[in-house]
Amino acid sequence: MNDHMEMMRRSVEELRLTFKSGKTRGVDWRKTQLRGILRLIHENEDTLFNLLQSELGKHPVESYRDEIGVVKKSADHALSCIDKWISPKKGRLPLAFFPASGRVLSEPLGLVLIIGSWNFPISLILDPLIGAISAGNTVVLKPSELSPQCASFLANMLPTYLDPKAVMVIEGGPEVCNQLLQYKWDKIFFTGSTKVGKIVMAAAAKNLTPVTLELGGKSPAIFDSLPYSDLKVAAKRVASGKWGACAGQACIGIDYMLVEHKFASTLIEQLKKTIKRFYGDDVKTLKNHSRIINKAHFDRLRSLLEDPAVAKCIVYGGSFDDTSLIIEPTILLNPPLDAEIMNEEIFGPLLPIITMDNIEESIEFINSKPKPLALYAFTKNETFKKQILAETSSGSVTFNDTMIQFLCDDLPFGGVGQSGIGRYHGKYSFDTFSHEKAVLERSFYFELEPRHPPWNNTKLEF
Ligand code: NAD
Repeated sequence: MNDHMEMMRRSVEELRLTFKSGKTRGVDWRKTQLRGILRLIHENEDTLFNLLQSELGKHPVESYRDEIGVVKKSADHALSCIDKWISPKKGRLPLAFFPASGRVLSEPLGLVLIIGSWNFPISLILDPLIGAISAGNTVVLKPSELSPQCASFLANMLPTYLDPKAVMVIEGGPEVCNQLLQYKWDKIFFTGSTKVGKIVMAAAAKNLTPVTLELGGKSPAIFDSLPYSDLKVAAKRVASGKWGACAGQACIGIDYMLVEHKFASTLIEQLKKTIKRFYGDDVKTLKNHSRIINKAHFDRLRSLLEDPAVAKCIVYGGSFDDTSLIIEPTILLNPPLDAEIMNEEIFGPLLPIITMDNIEESIEFINSKPKPLALYAFTKNETFKKQILAETSSGSVTFNDTMIQFLCDDLPFGGVGQSGIGRYHGKYSFDTFSHEKAVLERSFYFELEPRHPPWNNTKLEF
C-alpha cells in the first residue's frame, strides 16, 4: 500500500474512534455541525457562485436554486426538526405482555461513506451529509473528481466549519473510490450512475454494509394535449427543467417526451418559442444555460447525434460550441427507438419527442423500459392520472411540473429498480442514516404461564 493510501486508511480509522467516543451522539454536537454547514454556505456564497460558474457555467440563480438554497433549506429543516426526530417513539404492545412498554430508538449507524456526483457538486455532497450528521454519524465524503474545484473547496473549507475529527473529505477519482470501498463502513450512500452503483453494492455486500444508491436512467415526460393557456405554462416548466438545470445533466431531468401525433407540432412550436426567450438561439451567445462538464461528455453527446438516422430527426437546435462546451437546446422528433439516444441515459440538452396515436400508449412505452427515477405527466385528465399512478412504477411522479419534487422535505427522494435503492430528504435522510432500535421493557409482575412449558392444550392468545 503506498503512503497516500496508508494515510487515508489511518484518517478513516480516526473517524471510527471519534464515533466510538460517543461525542457525535449528543444533540448539541449535531446542531453545532448543522449550524456549521449553514455558516459555510452563508459566508462563502459568492465563492460558491464563482466555482459553479467556472466549473459548470451555472448562472448564480440556478446555483442558488439547485445547490446553495437546497443545502440551506435542508439544514434549516433538520435544525428545526432534530429534537423531534431523535426523541424515542412509543411502540404499542400486545395486551398479553402487560405490564410492559415498547419504544423505538433511532441510533446512529456509525462511520458512513458518502460518494457524490459532479452535476450538483455541492448539494449532492452536503445534502446527504446533513442527514448523516443529524443522525449522529461520523462521515467521509468523496466528491466527484470531475468537478475538482468544488471538491477542493469542500476539502479545504469543511474542516474550518465542521468537527474535523468527525467529518472528512477525501478527493480523488475511481481509484481512490475503489480503495475506500475496500474498508468496512456502517453505511454507504452513493450518488452516480447505475454502472458504478453495481460496483458499490458488490463491495458493500462483502461486509453486509447497507447502501443507499441514488442512480439515474431515462426519466420520461408524458405530454397530454392541453389548452393554449396551460400549454404556455407547461412549456416553461419543461424548458426550465430540461435546459435550465445544469443543461440537462440532471438525474431527474426529462430524458424524453411522449405525445400524441396530432399535438406534437403545437408542443414543439411552443417549446421553440420558450427556448428562444429563455436562452436565445445562438449557441455562441446562449444565456442562462450551463455548459457540459468536460470534453468527453461533450463528445459523447455529439456522438448521439452523429447517427444519420438520428441527425435527420432534429427539429430544433443541434449546434455545438467546442470552445465553451455548450450545446444548444436540441429537440428531436421520433428518432429510431433502437438508436443509442433512446436507450442510454442522455444526461444533456438533447430532447427526443416520441409520438403515438393515443396518449394512453405512453404507459406501455414506459413499462417496456427500466423503472425511471422520475416520471412527469402533463395532463388535466384525472382518470389518466390515476391510470399512470396505478400502472407504472418510478421513484416519483410529478404532475404538471418538472424537478420541483427534489425541493420537498416531506417527499422521499430516491429511485426504484435500476434507478436506485433507498431514499432521502428531510426526515427520510435522518432515517436513512439511522438504525431504528426496538426496545421492549417488562416488569416482573404477572406471568402468562401458558407460554412456558410444560404445555397443555390451552391455546395462546395475544
Ligand atoms: P459516476 O457513477 O461515473 O460517478 C459517481 C462517483 O463514483 C464519483 O465520485 C466517481 O469518482 C466514482 N466512480 C466513478 N467510476 C468509478 C469506478 N469505476 N469505481 C469506483 N468509483 C467510481 O456518475 P457521474 O458521472 O458522477 O454522474 C452521472 C450519473 O449519476 C447519471 O447516471 C445520473 O443520473 C446519476 N445521478 C443521480 C442522482 C440522484 O440523485 N439519483 C444525482 C446526480 C446524478
